[in-house]
Amino acid sequence: MIFLKTEDEIELMRAANLLVASTLAEIAKNIREGVTTKQLDRLAEEYIRDHGAVPTFKGFPNPFGAPFPASICTSVNDEVVHGIPNDRPLKSGDIISVDCGAQLGGYNGDSCYTFCVGEVSGKVKLLLRTTKEALYRGIDAALAGRRIGDVGNAVQRHCEAKGLGVVKEFVGHGIGKEMHEDPPVPNYGKKGEGPLIENGLCIAIEPMITLGSPKIGMMPDKWTVKTLDGKYAAHFEHTVAVHHGKADILSSFEEIEKIEGILY
Ligand code: MG
Ligand code: MG
Repeated sequence: MIFLKTEDEIELMRAANLLVASTLAEIAKNIREGVTTKQLDRLAEEYIRDHGAVPTFKGFPNPFGAPFPASICTSVNDEVVHGIPNDRPLKSGDIISVDCGAQLGGYNGDSCYTFCVGEVSGKVKLLLRTTKEALYRGIDAALAGRRIGDVGNAVQRHCEAKGLGVVKEFVGHGIGKEMHEDPPVPNYGKKGEGPLIENGLCIAIEPMITLGSPKIGMMPDKWTVKTLDGKYAAHFEHTVAVHHGKADILSSFEEIEKIEGILY
């Protein structure tokens, strides 16, 4: 069942998502060679709690009965999603997707950004740029009166045109009082198919894109998802509210991009 949000609820969603955005910006300041993903996790949890919110991912259940042990997902290089923070230091040439969720005032924020550590190859830069562009293509397609398939179609076409792989097993989602609500928002699809997009719809759009084959496997920790061919994967996510006919981005990469020195 899809829960459309009122204007007031959308503002509560915005507050939660801006807190997620500033948490990711704190992480951006600390991404460097030698830092561990556990250190980043500690920083994120403290920042979220200091702002009166709860890190939604901590203790989040999965079908294998293994609650997620951390406040952020840190997926490095060939890890696609749901990487568990650990004590391995980041090194130059790594990429790291940091997915962050927080609940504030009863509503959820959810956003992810893939960072570079030091210098990465041109191919990896293409992967990151294209995945981020695909996110915005998807957002632009989320217009009232259109269908969820239009969003996935925009993401898929943009990535496949560059020869990149689109992960199909994990998808975006509705979001609100619960982190995961209806409808599912795949990163592939056909125009004009799927649930109707209406004003008040809040969704997380989150392309998960690979440099090689999109085939993935689950690691023995029952969370970390990796590419089977060992090639790098990127993940960018915004939470948006359809508002006055089009998608209003509730999360933000603005601070991160200032820190990275990127003008999108
Ligand atoms: Mg997320
Ligand atoms: Mg999400």
